[in-house]
Amino acid sequence: MVGMLNKRYEFDGKPTLKLNKLQLKNKKLVEDKINSKEYTFEKVNCVICNGSDFELLAEKDRYGLYVPTVICKKCGLLQTNPRMNQESYNKFYDSNYRRLYEGGENEENIASFFNKQVSHGESILMLIERESK
Ligand SMILES: [Zn+2]
Repeated sequence: MVGMLNKRYEFDGKPTLKLNKLQLKNKKLVEDKINSKEYTFEKVNCVICNGSDFELLAEKDRYGLYVPTVICKKCGLLQTNPRMNQESYNKFYDSNYRRLYEGGENEENIASFFNKQVSHGESILMLIERESK
């Protein structure tokens, strides 16, 4: 059987989005951390059915980063596999994720995004508290 990986999803490092300067800088930082093994990947069994038979659908995300997406042949769940290990994800989400995905041009934008998220979270919490009485 011919694999299901479409040519346009093969890993070539090219983003399919137009990235701004901060995004490009952070993409490069992530790539460097992957190359230096500061970010490392691990193969895992399917998180739903524990299966280990996957079909590769894509090798990159829209930022052009290496993100292998597979489908579990047993239960059909789409997942990233291999994926970064927990320590790598922690570092990625602490230092690169927001700058890469939101593309805020400076630290103030990132701080203001964070503050908006905090107040959004607080309003959800208030709603839940009110509705659960
Ligand atoms: Zn599965």
